[in-house]
Amino acid sequence: MEKSDSALIETDRAFGVGARVGVLLPVPLGQVYDYRVPPGLSLCAGDFVRVPFGPRKLVGVVWGQGVGEIAEAKLKSVLGKLPAVPMADVTRRFIDWVAGYTLSTQGQVLKMAMSVEDALEDAQGVKVFRLAEPLPDLKLTKTREKVLAVLGNAAMTASEAALAAGCSPAVVAGLYKAGALVEASQVRERQWTPPDVVRAGPTLSDAQTLAAHALVAKVQEGAFAALLLDGVPGSGKTEVYFEAVAEALREGKQVLVLLPEISLSSQWLARFQRRFAAEPAQWHSDLGARERRETWRAVADGRARVVVGARSALFLPYHDLGLIVVDEEHDGAFKQEEGVIYNARDMAVVRAHLGGFPICLVSATPSLETAVNAESGKYQLLHLPERHGGAVLPELDLIDMRREKLPATRWLSNSLQQAMTETFAAGEQAMLFLNRRGYAPLTLCRTCGHRLACPNCSTWLVEHRVRRRLECHHCGHIERLPEKCPSCDAEHSFHACGPGVERLAEEVMNAFPEVRFALASSDTLSGPRAAEDLIGRIERHEVDLIIGTQIVAKGYHFPLLTLVGVVDGDLGLAGGDLRAAERTYQLLYQVAGRAGRGEKPGRVLVQTYLPEHPVMQAMKSGQRDAFIAEEIRARQEMFMPPFGRLVALIVSGKVEAAVDAQAAHLARSAPRYDDVRVLGPAPAPLALLRGRHRRRFLMKVKPGIAPQAIVREWLQRTLKEKGVRIQVDVDPQSFL
Ligand code: ADP
Ligand code: ZN
Repeated sequence: MEKSDSALIETDRAFGVGARVGVLLPVPLGQVYDYRVPPGLSLCAGDFVRVPFGPRKLVGVVWGQGVGEIAEAKLKSVLGKLPAVPMADVTRRFIDWVAGYTLSTQGQVLKMAMSVEDALEDAQGVKVFRLAEPLPDLKLTKTREKVLAVLGNAAMTASEAALAAGCSPAVVAGLYKAGALVEASQVRERQWTPPDVVRAGPTLSDAQTLAAHALVAKVQEGAFAALLLDGVPGSGKTEVYFEAVAEALREGKQVLVLLPEISLSSQWLARFQRRFAAEPAQWHSDLGARERRETWRAVADGRARVVVGARSALFLPYHDLGLIVVDEEHDGAFKQEEGVIYNARDMAVVRAHLGGFPICLVSATPSLETAVNAESGKYQLLHLPERHGGAVLPELDLIDMRREKLPATRWLSNSLQQAMTETFAAGEQAMLFLNRRGYAPLTLCRTCGHRLACPNCSTWLVEHRVRRRLECHHCGHIERLPEKCPSCDAEHSFHACGPGVERLAEEVMNAFPEVRFALASSDTLSGPRAAEDLIGRIERHEVDLIIGTQIVAKGYHFPLLTLVGVVDGDLGLAGGDLRAAERTYQLLYQVAGRAGRGEKPGRVLVQTYLPEHPVMQAMKSGQRDAFIAEEIRARQEMFMPPFGRLVALIVSGKVEAAVDAQAAHLARSAPRYDDVRVLGPAPAPLALLRGRHRRRFLMKVKPGIAPQAIVREWLQRTLKEKGVRIQVDVDPQSFL
């Protein structure tokens, strides 16, 4: 882990009247600005304060002593302090670290840590009523008497009192008007049931016990340690890390579990509920404003003991965090590609390091970076080699599509169809995996060859037949399928090329008219409710066949699912970026891991045109470790991550000439050192995205060199064009 080069954080120091304090503001160019402490206020580092900023008033955080260059006479005063729990020292150090590492401003990172600004204010009270002094001349009715009786010593809202008394809220209002009730404001924070940490989990197998003990021991030590829990799908990794969660809770610590797709994690939530008889706090983008506010506050004051969330949960204001678990640590969804570009898995390790507590990374297919760290002993390896309860790993076969010679409008080979027939006949479930949403990824005109493309991006429009429209999967652009070809005016000339899951469903309907199938993609599972609903239907066996994208690859446990068919195993190998093979292997392995998790053995069929490819061979032979070792060797030879380091620069803007000019400036000022190579500028594969032209640079540094300082200097000495943005992506995952 590299050292942060950010400023030192001050702690425990009070700033009295007249003192200069540095306040960090959550704005894009945010840095620490100086303000004066006004009379009547004493501030400490971490306090949330309101300050004037140009014509606006902003809420920021006291970062320490002021050091800016503002003249005394021009110094503005802090307007006031907010009633929120101050931001912990460790959170502030984390913000500085992330900013330094990702080459973002501190303000950008603070914005992620202050995503719920109204949680900082006093909680809003609700209007409640209680009994006033008895009125001698009050006109009493039956219902009025009932209301007075239910109120007794209590304070209730009008609707609560009405509900309890079985009358309308108007009766309560009438009593208030008559002077029999007084009104008050009551703050009601949501109550969080504490997890039950006494009840025992399942009896663990020997291998599970060993792993659980190692994890629990680290939690007890209460110092930084990174562990990798590596086990085949279904080996009980979740049960094992639940033991560590329980231990951290017993020690009074909070726990964070990061999941790649929290909104699709109803099975995980149900398991947590069963194990701990309580609900964890959830943190993801589907939460409503009120839930966000309540959760934020409960995390800050320690009422929420366990948070399960997407990557942004890393920036919550934990009161006393003592363990982080990153489940499916290899998953690409942990990388945020917008704004502050960071990998939540890596930043979670930093967070644990700063907080001085253990972190457990969990996967059946660890990322190469993590595998290397485990191999070198930097991470402690815990291994679960077998499926729980004797379930065997599924048998896997490759289907050589070159031999199948399917007609152009069929995608399911005879072998796969045969296996499906057998599965349905046995009363079992099957899953077809195709990582393509919609009906067809490309539509072209048969007369002139024109391809329907997005006006804002350099991509083809994807036909979605269910919604009867064309969509761009990059910018969200939507249009109807035109009547005529926009290029040659030919009518009825459009031809759909290639399959998406919708088209596959069409083929299934023809081949298996009786089969009950469900489509599972981000189009059909657009939220936790929809996902939960589908999972329920699959669990109750109301569905025979799931046709899904990568959304179904993750973590699900369906005991009756015995056949997995991968429709296009080669899909992820096209494009050939650095991680194509690794990614494809992980995804296929995850999908395959859905088969045969119950008592019945599973079977996996992978359709491929590249059966000799190392990924396919590794899938077939089950030699995961040999495959990883070979990938590691290749990366090492080329000084590719994690042996050397990469930083991508993405230059983008609406005016192409300005973008090119900016790229030329960057090229001129590019660093020229030994052990540092700069590739580019080159048009990005997505040379146009959301109406912005894009050029890329890739900087590669040899092992042992920290690229941040080099990039920072590079940017500083580069001329800037108006209207052009330069994004820095440290440790890029995507090369689009
Ligand atoms: P993984 O996370 O490795 O895919 P899970 O933790 O989901 O594995 O375990 C797979 C299934 O086996 C789950 O239904 C889980 O409850 C069950 N299981 C695992 N270990 C045990 C155990 N020791 N006793 C009882 N059930 C177990
Ligand atoms: Zn687009």
